Amino acid sequence: MGKATGFMEYTREKPKERNPLTRTNDWKEYSAPFSDEMLSKQGARCMDCGTPFCHMGTELEGTTAGCPINNLIPEWNDLVYRGRWQEALERLLKTNNFPEFTGRVCPAPCEGSCTLAISDPAVTIKSIERTIIDKGFDNGWISPRIPAKRTGKKVAIIGSGPAGLASADQLNQAGHSVTVYERADRPGGLLMYGIPNMKLEKEIVERRINLLNEEGIDFVVNTEVGKDITAEELREQYDSVILCTGAQKQRDLVIEGREAKGIHFAMDYLTTATKSLLDSNFEDGQFIDTKGKDVIVIGGGDTGADCVATALRQECRSVVQFGKHPQLPETRSADNMWPADANVFTMDYAYEEAASKFGSDPRQYSIQTKKVVSDDKGNLKELHTIQMEKLRDETGRFYFEEIPGTEKIWPAQFVFIAIGFEGTEQPLLAQFGVETQNNKVAAVYGEYTTNVEGVYAAGDARRGQSLIVWAINEGREVAREVDRYLMGSSVLP
Ligand SMILES: Cc1cc2nc3c(=O)[nH]c(=O)nc-3n(C[C@H](O)[C@H](O)[C@H](O)COP(=O)(O)OP(=O)(O)OC[C@H]3O[C@@H](n4cnc5c(N)ncnc54)[C@H](O)[C@@H]3O)c2cc1C
Ligand code: SF4
Repeated sequence: MGKATGFMEYTREKPKERNPLTRTNDWKEYSAPFSDEMLSKQGARCMDCGTPFCHMGTELEGTTAGCPINNLIPEWNDLVYRGRWQEALERLLKTNNFPEFTGRVCPAPCEGSCTLAISDPAVTIKSIERTIIDKGFDNGWISPRIPAKRTGKKVAIIGSGPAGLASADQLNQAGHSVTVYERADRPGGLLMYGIPNMKLEKEIVERRINLLNEEGIDFVVNTEVGKDITAEELREQYDSVILCTGAQKQRDLVIEGREAKGIHFAMDYLTTATKSLLDSNFEDGQFIDTKGKDVIVIGGGDTGADCVATALRQECRSVVQFGKHPQLPETRSADNMWPADANVFTMDYAYEEAASKFGSDPRQYSIQTKKVVSDDKGNLKELHTIQMEKLRDETGRFYFEEIPGTEKIWPAQFVFIAIGFEGTEQPLLAQFGVETQNNKVAAVYGEYTTNVEGVYAAGDARRGQSLIVWAINEGREVAREVDRYLMGSSVLP
């Protein structure tokens, strides 16, 4: 423990962010780094409590509590306080293949479980993590680690999101020859197409892909397994296959008037915006442009927030986001106790930006869309909504009831549907003969084997739409299981 009284002397500094109004003029990251001096003090706030919950990594009350990859947080907090950055980096890389991603976009369930958070604001763990890895790259402490020996075994990984990349990294370091197949034109999965540039700049993703490539991993892009190459061909050519195909099958809005022109899935909106930015700085016009338009995002989650932030950068005329649930409380409720993640009201980056630009938070709570009305050319004209009340029945289960008299009409030219995902796409799984459960690949957490010998599954494809840090966790673990399958035993964690 660096400074025994640090948590009493220093207060938590909020993660640094660029000005919410002016940052919407560009697509650069909205977060900004801390100074070394500031971070040393933040590291000193860690109490090195006897039983740190921040790195336990589990699920409590249906949400993540602690760090799912069991980052050695108190150890690197101490090293950062002492200015021993290179050692902090070594400790960090023991558990996390890609801290440059999690240090930027992880929702940091570790902070909700920080012991200090029982009585005070948590240690700013995520910002410390980001700074350690950024320093590592800036100072040239990170260079390609080419495996000394090859085992002669070949593994194919389908999907290049964080689960695919983490398993590829682990298996490559174990000496296996790894090929990652990706149907998009750039690797990275949702890190590349999904999470927008202002949350995670794509140079950061490309830097890691290049590093993995230099270390010996092959990336085959623009190739959809199941169409461009069959499951059978892959099984013949490789000793093992891992399905890391994500859970990107989008849930649709079943509603009168859904076919109106101007209604899109959130992922189509976000993906085309990023692709056009990267391909041509929007010169090609291959994106959905909301400039000067009224935008409604349906769905109160993070994907919806990313749509709000994207529309703001495109200079929309107005933007609102509909959520089904009521506003969260300012402080933990009685059924949301530490060390479960705090389920409280926060202002995400997109909402800060909207509030700066338009003077109010864009979120509308407890609202249900009843129907869509188009003009005579089939273009979206307005949404009709009603307010809902969230109630509990006698068994304690929640249900929603419409509140009569709260009907409202909202003019809009664009609607983005962000009401969640239904699981992984099924045709490829059928080609492999892999069994499914609730639209996901049936494979037990910790084992990752499917019913087909040599075929494994990890990440969102197995657990459903989740978090990057869980995808890294599963990618690391599936690599261990595949290594064991190929070699009889494994030293991978
Ligand atoms: C808009 C959005 C924002 C998000 N923001 C955050 C965030 O801020 N923080 C966070 O922690 N999590 C966030 N998430 C969730 C997180 O991105 C995912 O949980 C994570 O990326 C899952 O990783 P994965 O590797 O399992 O799958 P994915 O990242 O979905 O990658 C799967 C890949 O498989 C490819 N693929 C699928 N089928 C085939 C095929 N047949 N052949 C070849 N390739 C194929 C896909 O093209 C895709 O690239 C966000 C999700 C979305 C949708
Ligand atoms: S990966 Fe996420 S949960 Fe783990 S230490 Fe980093 S911010 Fe916290």
